[in-house]
Amino acid sequence: MRKKRASPDASDPQDPNAALLHEVLDCVPQGVIMFSGEGRMLYCNRRYRDTYGFSEEDLRPGITMESMLTMRNRTGVIGPEERKYCRRQLAAMRKGLVQSGFHPTPDGRTIHYINTPIPSGGWIVTHEDMTQQRQAEEQIEHMASHDALTDLPNRVSFQSHVEQALLLNSRGRMLAVMFLDLDNFKGINDTLGHQVGDELLKVVADRLRSCIRGTDMVARFGGDEFVIISSGFNSPARAAALATRIREAVLEPFDLADHRVSVDISIGISLSPNDGTDAEQLLKNADQALYCAKGSGRGTYRFFEGEMDVRTTERHNLELDLRAGFVNGEFEIHYQPLVNLESGKVSCCEALLRWNHPVRGSVPPDIFIPVAEEIGLITRLGEWVIRTVCAEAVKWPEQVAAAINVSPVQFRTQNVLQIVTHALASSGLPPGRLELEITEAILLDESESTLAVLRQLQALGVRIAMDDFGTGYSSLSYLRKFPFDKIKIDQCFIKDLSLGGAASAIVRAVTGIADSFHMVTTAEGVETEEQRVIVKALGCTEMQGHLFSKAIPPAEILALLTSMEVAPCSPPPDRPAPDRLGSDRLAVAMAWGRAGER
Ligand code: C2E
Ligand code: CA
Ligand code: CA
Repeated sequence: MRKKRASPDASDPQDPNAALLHEVLDCVPQGVIMFSGEGRMLYCNRRYRDTYGFSEEDLRPGITMESMLTMRNRTGVIGPEERKYCRRQLAAMRKGLVQSGFHPTPDGRTIHYINTPIPSGGWIVTHEDMTQQRQAEEQIEHMASHDALTDLPNRVSFQSHVEQALLLNSRGRMLAVMFLDLDNFKGINDTLGHQVGDELLKVVADRLRSCIRGTDMVARFGGDEFVIISSGFNSPARAAALATRIREAVLEPFDLADHRVSVDISIGISLSPNDGTDAEQLLKNADQALYCAKGSGRGTYRFFEGEMDVRTTERHNLELDLRAGFVNGEFEIHYQPLVNLESGKVSCCEALLRWNHPVRGSVPPDIFIPVAEEIGLITRLGEWVIRTVCAEAVKWPEQVAAAINVSPVQFRTQNVLQIVTHALASSGLPPGRLELEITEAILLDESESTLAVLRQLQALGVRIAMDDFGTGYSSLSYLRKFPFDKIKIDQCFIKDLSLGGAASAIVRAVTGIADSFHMVTTAEGVETEEQRVIVKALGCTEMQGHLFSKAIPPAEILALLTSMEVAPCSPPPDRPAPDRLGSDRLAVAMAWGRAGER
C-alpha cells in the first residue's frame, strides 16, 4: 500500500515542508492569507503583512478575521465602509463562493483581491497592490480622451459629454455648441514658428477654460479648433453674451517668447433643441455657422440658420471644382496692357487668371481667388501662374514687362523668392522685365520675413508694385515700410474722377507722394477718354483699363504687342529713402487717408 504523503501544516514552523512552503510563498508577488472554516487565520505571507503594514507579531496564526479587520482599521489601511464590505465578503466566503474585486485603501492605493474557498474548508485570499497599474491605466485613459498639448478633453470626450449634457439639460433650456477657430493662426505659426504657435494654443486653452462654468466643457479638436458645450440657456442672447466674453478674452494680446501676439477668433453656434438633438447634428451645424462667420469677415460669431446648409454645400462644390479644375487644366492666363501716358505705348502687361469651368462657364477671379486662398490651392496655382507668365513674356518685345498678382498667402506659405528665381532662370526672362503686384494685406502681419523676401526680389531687379492702393487700411504707413517701385491707384478713385471733387484731390496727392519717392503711378480701370485726360493731368505715369484694352488671351496679346510700338518698361530710378517724405506732403497724405476711409 502506498504511504499517504503528509500534507504540510502551514502553521507549524517545525514542519520542514511548511518551512519550504513559507519560503516559496514569501517570494510570490501577491499577499497570500489563509483562513480556517471558522474564520481564523492559519497563515499569511510576508507580502501580505507588508501590504497592510503588519508585523509578524500582529498576525499570529489563530487570530480571527474580525480582530484583523479591527487592526487594519486602526492602522488606517481600511476605512469603516470597507469593514462592512469585508464582513459581507466573509459571509459569502462561508457559503463557498469565489470572489474577486478591487478595494481602494484610505491611503490611496488600489488592491486587487481573490477569495478562493478550499475544498477541505476555509479559504485563501490573494491581495495584489495594483496602484501603479491602475495609475498607468488611468493615464492611458486620460491620454485617449485628452489633447496632449493643452490637456483639454478631445473629440472623444466631447461626444460623451454632449450626450450627457443633453440628458441632464432641463426642459425648456437650451444647450449651446460653439465651434471656435482662431483667425490667422496659420500665419502666426508660419512666421513665428511652431513653438510660439503651440504656446499660443496653450494660453488660448487657459483663457477659454476661464470663460466657462464647471458644468460646461471646452474641448480641442486639433489645430486651432476648439469646441465649447454650455448648457442651461434660456435665450440665444445668453449664448451670444458668452460668445462675446470668449472673444474679448482671446482678443487680449498674448506675450509669448519675446513676441506680443494678437489673435481674433471666429465662433459658430448651434443651439439644441432647434438646431439638433444629438452631438453630431449640433456639431455639424455649429461648424457651418463658423464657416459663415469666417466668410463674413472673421473675428465674429454667427448662429446657425437653416439655409446655411445650402450655401455650405454650394461652397463645398466650388472647392471641389476648383481643385479638379487645376488638375484638368481649366485655367488660363489673359493679359491686359498698361500704357505709358506720356508716350502712349505699352510698357507692361498684367497677367489675370481666368477659370473656364465646363458647366459654370467663366468664373471671375474675385470669386475663386479667395476660395483658392482659403483651401491653400493658391500656392500651386500661383506657382503655375509665375512659371507660365515668365515663359510667355519672354516672347514679347523686350521693352514690355509682365506683371503678376501674388497673394499674401503665397508669401506666408511658400518660398516666393525661390519660385521666382527658378521661373526667371528657366524661361530666360530678365528680372527687370518682371513686376510683382502685392496688396497691403501682405504687410499687415508686420512680418520681417516677408519684407526680407521683397527686398531680395528687388535686389534681383524684380519690381514690386502696390496694388489696389486706397482700398484697404490705408496705406501711407505701408509706403514707409517698403520702397515700392509702383503704386496702382484703385479703379474706384478713377471712376469718380469725372465727378470732380475729392477723387481728383486724392489722385493728385498720391501722384505727389509717388513722385517724391520716384515711384511710377498707374491709374487702374480707365474706361473713357475723359478719365485718361484727367489722370494724365493729375500726374499719373501709366494707365490700365478698357479704354485701351481688356485682358486678352496670350496669342492676341503677342499679336498686339508685335504689331505696335512699345515703351521701355520703366526701370526703378534711384530714389530717396521713404523717411525723407516731406512733412507737408505727409499732411496732404494723411488728409487723403481720411478721405479714403470715408
Ligand atoms: P486687380 O489686380 O485689381 O486686377 C484688375 C482688375 O480690374 C481685373 O479684373 C481687370 O480685368 C479689371 N479691369 C481692368 N480694366 C478695367 C476697366 O476699365 N473697367 C473695369 N470695370 N474693370 C477693369 P479681374 O481680371 O476680374 O481680376 C480681379 C482680381 O482678381 C484682380 O484684381 C486680382 O486681385 C485677382 N487676380 C487675378 N488674377 C490673379 C492671379 O493670378 N493671382 C492672384 N493672387 N490674384 C489674381
Ligand atoms: Ca493687380
Ligand atoms: Ca488692382
